[in-house]
Amino acid sequence: MKIGTPKEVFEGENRVAMTPDSALQLQKLGYECAIESGAGSNAGFSDEAYEAAGVEVIKTAAQLWKSADIIAKVRQPNETELKRLTKDKTLISFFNPAGNEEGMELAKSKKANVIAMEMVPRISRAQKMDALSSMANIAGYRAVIEAGNNFGRFFTGQITAAGKVPPAKVLVVGAGVAGLAAIGTSTSLGAITYAFDVRPEVAEQVESMGAEFVYLDFEEEQQDGAATGGYASVSSPEFREAQLAKFRELAPEMDIVITTALIPNREAPELWTEDMVKSMKPGSVIVDLAAEKGGNCKLTVADEKIVTDNGVTIIGYTDFPSRMAAQSSTLYATNIRHMMADLTPEKDGKINHNMEDDVIRGATVTFEGDITFPPPPPKVQ
Ligand code: NAD
Repeated sequence: MKIGTPKEVFEGENRVAMTPDSALQLQKLGYECAIESGAGSNAGFSDEAYEAAGVEVIKTAAQLWKSADIIAKVRQPNETELKRLTKDKTLISFFNPAGNEEGMELAKSKKANVIAMEMVPRISRAQKMDALSSMANIAGYRAVIEAGNNFGRFFTGQITAAGKVPPAKVLVVGAGVAGLAAIGTSTSLGAITYAFDVRPEVAEQVESMGAEFVYLDFEEEQQDGAATGGYASVSSPEFREAQLAKFRELAPEMDIVITTALIPNREAPELWTEDMVKSMKPGSVIVDLAAEKGGNCKLTVADEKIVTDNGVTIIGYTDFPSRMAAQSSTLYATNIRHMMADLTPEKDGKINHNMEDDVIRGATVTFEGDITFPPPPPKVQ
């Protein structure tokens, strides 16, 4: 069978779902590989590099979609793309199934099988296919780099002949995948880093990375944001008040705030209020990774950088992985390649779409003319 990767059509998307390296691995599974001409150029992979890796370069998207049995791409496909699906083709891509009923109906009507990369269950066995995590890791790193680029001072403290420079103070709100990457980047740049999460079990991880976990005056057993499957649930009003009170206390001291708080399938919790922004020093920077889901900061504008009247920069970009397209394409293509390995147990270049496999079942949103989303709860952890 042939795996093809088209050029991403979403405006400004620089990532690509197949790299020359991943293509070599896919060929070891017995597949032929094809790429649309120019698909990798914004991520630093030329047509020649693909050709050298044995990949067929196809001129147009229409030809690519027609000739491939399996399409691997990054962004949720648009209508034109979905209309190119036919019976027995498999699409592997981010798909946003919870908000994409029409897309699922269209894929179902075409009897195409769709694997939605954001639906890969967060279980140990599936980590190598977990594209949400690989992309969140990049976003967390890039959030700190972006903050540094907009912050007029050093991260690390210095004593120089020209004077003493205090270290920057960074607060990371939400210590999941993106948050931990942000904490690691911030501490490695030498900032004094604080982190908060509703899941107290992450405190140890935060501290092992050289950051300080922010505790609230709240009994631990009442700390009800505790997780299911590595995710948080909604906090009680009392807990939320205690959290906001702590943030109000910290806001005037912080130079950089990175917010990453997420509760699955909900709007982002609003945790950094207008009065907190107003109490921050001029020159401080907020990077709100939750911008796409409404933002953790009240004043965030998705996809924009704004500067408030009191001189606080608030960054709400929703495309951090695309801003590091070489790295994110490499990791995403690896996620896809591992997914293909699971789908090809015999390494014979043929898909074995095993709906008994928890990971494959969890990620499949349309199969043989049916919508199979949402999946049943995972059996294993
Ligand atoms: P995650 O689920 O691993 O982490 C989210 C963390 O937030 C969890 O640890 C959770 O306990 C915590 N949390 C929930 N409610 C909280 C609250 N009230 N206070 C403090 N912490 C709270 O998610 P992730 O994969 O790290 O993604 C984080 C965010 O980054 C998501 O909103 C995701 O969409 C976003 N993201 C943005 C970009 C971008 O380019 N802007 C790219 C990738 C991911």
